[in-house]
Amino acid sequence: MSKASVPELYGSMVFNDRIMKERLPKATYKALRKTIADGTSLELETANTIAAVMKEWAIEKGATHFTHWFQPMTGFTAEKHDSFITPQEDGSVLMSFSGKELIKGEPDASSFPSGGIRATFEARGYTAWDPSSPAFVKDGTLYIPTAFCSYGGESLDKKTPLLRSMDALNHEAVRMLRLLGNTTVKRVDTTVGSEQEYFLIDKDLYMQRKDLLFCGRTLLGAPAPKGQEMEDHYFGVLKPKVSAFMHDLDEELWKLGVPAKTKHNEVAPAQHELAPIFETANIAVDHNQLTMEMMKKVADRHNMACLLHEKPFEGINGSGKHVNWSIVTDEGENLLEPGKTPAENTQFLVFLIAVIAAVDKYAKLLRVSVASAGNDHRLGANEAPPAVISIFLGDELESILSAIDKGISPEDAEHTLMNIGAKILPTFTKDTTDRNRTSPFAFTGNKFEFRMPGSSVSVADPNVILNTAVADSLRHMRKELEGTSEDKLQDSLMKLLQKTLKEHKRVLFNGNGYTDEWLTEAEKRGLPNLKSLPDAMPALIEDDSIALFTAYHIFSETELRARYEILLENYSKLIHIESLTLQDMVKKDFTTGLLSYMSDVTAEALQKQEFSDTISVSYEKEILETLSSSSEAINASLKKLAEDTASAESEADEQKRAVKYHETILADMEDVRKAVDTAEAIIPQEYLTYPTYDQLLFSLR
Ligand code: ADP
Ligand code: MG
Repeated sequence: MSKASVPELYGSMVFNDRIMKERLPKATYKALRKTIADGTSLELETANTIAAVMKEWAIEKGATHFTHWFQPMTGFTAEKHDSFITPQEDGSVLMSFSGKELIKGEPDASSFPSGGIRATFEARGYTAWDPSSPAFVKDGTLYIPTAFCSYGGESLDKKTPLLRSMDALNHEAVRMLRLLGNTTVKRVDTTVGSEQEYFLIDKDLYMQRKDLLFCGRTLLGAPAPKGQEMEDHYFGVLKPKVSAFMHDLDEELWKLGVPAKTKHNEVAPAQHELAPIFETANIAVDHNQLTMEMMKKVADRHNMACLLHEKPFEGINGSGKHVNWSIVTDEGENLLEPGKTPAENTQFLVFLIAVIAAVDKYAKLLRVSVASAGNDHRLGANEAPPAVISIFLGDELESILSAIDKGISPEDAEHTLMNIGAKILPTFTKDTTDRNRTSPFAFTGNKFEFRMPGSSVSVADPNVILNTAVADSLRHMRKELEGTSEDKLQDSLMKLLQKTLKEHKRVLFNGNGYTDEWLTEAEKRGLPNLKSLPDAMPALIEDDSIALFTAYHIFSETELRARYEILLENYSKLIHIESLTLQDMVKKDFTTGLLSYMSDVTAEALQKQEFSDTISVSYEKEILETLSSSSEAINASLKKLAEDTASAESEADEQKRAVKYHETILADMEDVRKAVDTAEAIIPQEYLTYPTYDQLLFSLR
């Protein structure tokens, strides 16, 4: 543990604004700030100066290498390290790093998924520095956050569309603010705070389970006698081992400038959460990636394994990532915060209703943005929001909106709005809005909390959709208002808000999202319920999706189709690995224990009978009967799983293959698991070659 104070530690490994201001020549610093603000590219000369200063700083921090750190479409991060060395003729070495090396890289990245994009252009891609996210030093390497593109300029990563979507929202939000009379705001950004859930288990136990090693989740395992029913873990006292881990994790994150703020135990045994302080979306996304990476690293150091999978254990809660999201101006004003004046509140209502319209109109895309094989186990189970997207606003806010919805006569419009502004809006507190934990998209006082994202994936995708969809809403609203004279603006605005609400209020729902009644009601309202990734994916390439993304230059049609292919392909690949792992684990690990226990019980019964044929062996018989009937079920279900997996693999169409994996293979795996778990429940641990749920979930001290 470090002896440095937190202020000394915080950001100590980051080439942040303070360091840049301190070390860069004034003109260079100014040029860089301008580049960041305008999103333009750097002059090579400026880049050279920055690179030289950055290198000196990085070497002081112990760096010998640099890397262009990027986020390919796998959803993970990627890096290739180059050293700074330039050997000299006299046998000595110089440490060098040029502006060119800083701003552009050419990783030989032909193995990253491109959905066919690169095959048709160039095998290689290039990385380009994103100066809006600060560089940092980690493990002796200078990390430069970059975007990853093909030579044709198509994005091959998660960062490029995110930056494009932030620009789109910026553009539309500023124009809307101008229309509402704001003449000073220059830029609007989105802020994101992503709460991260995770499990910690003992590393030695983890290493003994192929399912955890290969798939990140348990594919079999009878439940422990105790689960989460007592809810005694939630916010409970931290165990010393977990507390030591969290302490170290905080320090590592603080060094990297990641504002880790809150840590606590979650509802499920062995489950925990970390919440950072919110930041600009782009940086928050990078920082969430660093957080996940550090969680794994620090856990390993503490002889634990950190599980980020959405559903590591059956029968207890899985893990998600709540994306808290808001819109803020460069003047520091949160546009989703009810204001103190009528004008501020008009502005609030415009942005609020724009979000409502966006979420309703593009609900399917939001659903796609959180689709993953892991998250399929979570959404719709009674622990996470359902797969139906709805918005929770809280009673107070909803009653205001319904007043608007019911219609305000034009003469009264201004007056009513004044009333709304003066009396009601400023009284929102989190307490009155943040009580519904079952809503997938909840207004929590001055931000929205999107609760559907899974724990293991990048939060870039949901942000891309939200930003783009809201930009689109704002644009449509502006188009309707443009040309209205100033004295009629309030009036037209109210009518527009009313009309927009009428169109989209079906997405508002304050009740319990976990109930079947809601699902029936949602269907009546025509809200989409896309239960799985294969169900959701086609929405990505529907005409209106293509129209949306191309209109705002977020994705070209080629890029969208590439992403569609990649996501479906990854989905099938993952379940294929799960199927093979389950078969392997059952045939080798489980069967060894099963047979040896059966043979011991048989021997025991025979011995007893030999000793005296009046001694009862009914208990042994019952055990053997249960185990043999399980064995038969296991044998039959394994065979079916193997056959169906082979047949799924031979399906050429990406979409159809994913559906097969979802409908057939997962069901087959469930059958195998049921049979195995019935047997496992009565086999003593000493016979099994892998640790069971009770050990995995309850052994950390
Ligand atoms: P909760 O009740 O969910 O714990 P908190 O107020 O503690 O609510 O916030 C949870 C997360 O929301 C934190 O990561 C916090 O930084 C983030 N957050 C707060 N305000 C904003 C905002 N304006 N924009 C984005 N995220 C925010
Ligand atoms: Mg939360």
